[in-house]
Amino acid sequence: MRKRLIVSAAAGALALLLSVPASAAQAGPGAAGIGDPYFPYAGNGGYDVSHYDIRLKYQPATDELEGTTTILATATQDLTRFNLDFVLQVKEVLVNGRPARFATSGEQELEITPARTIARGSAVTVVVRYADKPGEVERGGYSAWIRTPDGGVVANEPEGAAWWYPSNDHPTDKATFDVSVLVPNGTQAISNGTLTTSQRPGWTRYNYRQAKPQATYLATLAVGKFDIRQDTTPGGLPVITAYSPDLGVNAGAARASVERTGELTDWLSGVFGPYPFDSVGGYVPNVPTGYALETQNQIFYSPAQFARGSNTSVVVHELAHQWFGDSVSVQRWSEIWLNEGFARYSQWLWSEHENEGTGQELADFIYDLYPAGDPFWTVRPGDPGADRLFAGAVYDRGAIAIQALRNTVGDEKLFAILKGWQSERKYGNATIQQFQAYAERVSGKPLGELFNTWLYTPGKPAAGTSGIGGAPAVAASASAPAGSAGLAPGGAPGARPEPKSWKKIQETNTVHEHEHGQR
Ligand SMILES: [Zn+2]
Repeated sequence: MRKRLIVSAAAGALALLLSVPASAAQAGPGAAGIGDPYFPYAGNGGYDVSHYDIRLKYQPATDELEGTTTILATATQDLTRFNLDFVLQVKEVLVNGRPARFATSGEQELEITPARTIARGSAVTVVVRYADKPGEVERGGYSAWIRTPDGGVVANEPEGAAWWYPSNDHPTDKATFDVSVLVPNGTQAISNGTLTTSQRPGWTRYNYRQAKPQATYLATLAVGKFDIRQDTTPGGLPVITAYSPDLGVNAGAARASVERTGELTDWLSGVFGPYPFDSVGGYVPNVPTGYALETQNQIFYSPAQFARGSNTSVVVHELAHQWFGDSVSVQRWSEIWLNEGFARYSQWLWSEHENEGTGQELADFIYDLYPAGDPFWTVRPGDPGADRLFAGAVYDRGAIAIQALRNTVGDEKLFAILKGWQSERKYGNATIQQFQAYAERVSGKPLGELFNTWLYTPGKPAAGTSGIGGAPAVAASASAPAGSAGLAPGGAPGARPEPKSWKKIQETNTVHEHEHGQR
């Protein structure tokens, strides 16, 4: 996770106000941001994208990327000018077939002035031709393009798209994608969705199709040497996995985890309802990063995720995001709990399934782990602030909130809520407030106090609130009894036994903390 856009939040909000068109009836420029309070310059105003056609040629040896991206959009106001989010060098822009003037501003704004004003409601086709060395393009000392010894990779949140294609870079403007990448023979390309390839002398073209709506940050691109495997689940869902041949000692653990993608997708489908996309998979490039990211259909894993052996828990986390984050996406970045709270809770459910600790045991363990004065309790998972979007509490306190919900409405209602929410909001965007309203409707219970306590109130809730952190239950299990005075074996007085899954779940965090955060 990166924080470049955060610094100018206050100034950005002002700039947004100034750039709002005088009235809907009057033609004017589209706003430089879509209106996200955390990231004022993310996305743009004035149009809505339905499809990206991204056609690329990449030379791994020199990092030269040539591209033509065609964007299909509809104007949502009369537009004299509009912006795309992009950082590479642009050669030419066409709007509805006519050359358009373009200029850059801010950190990632490509301002496009079409030859003719675009009428509200009309279809717009934008063609952007570009060429650059993306690994050398930095903003605020940062490049989203990770160079590898054999190519490059882009997988980042909340932004990364601007390093390989121009876009309306915000989760509320989802679109379908065709990504076509021409690479020298012996090199492979990875992106989202189903795959076909074609040959020409010396070169191979990789064509990826994302036929379901996808947020811009969930599009990924990797070029390099990969062993690509294609299979299907017993239910007929195509599975694509890919591994760099240079994963070294992590190679076995990476495959032993990611090759279980089909099985884990089937298991999660039982929890959240039908898998929402046309294929599923994951790839492990030879990157030095530590995080994983839920890039749609095709999950990005850093080799470091498997440095301490196989980890199905991280695969479950990223797969759960295919429902919570990818199919149902945040309306604003402040709603990040809708992604991370549920992805973390899915790890707890997997732990339960594997008999390595229940959701209640994990919730109670975390509750006891952080004393009342610990900074952990200062983060409000329901509105953490842009600089704490991926703070540990968004995940762990966020998952406790779901356990608290489970304790309040019961198992049957909780799982009805999870499935029903996915079905009702499929391919859309949502807020926490809407989730609360939905949970109240399904359960028939008022939940305002529960959401307020666990998501919006700083500080450690009192022990026993919503069934979390009360007196330790008799014992977690007969083999690990709490002592007569609540003394866990080897623990401090009152401490609970550590759930068996705890370390694996933690490993999905700790590798992040040396980087920029967790996803
Ligand atoms: Zn996550």
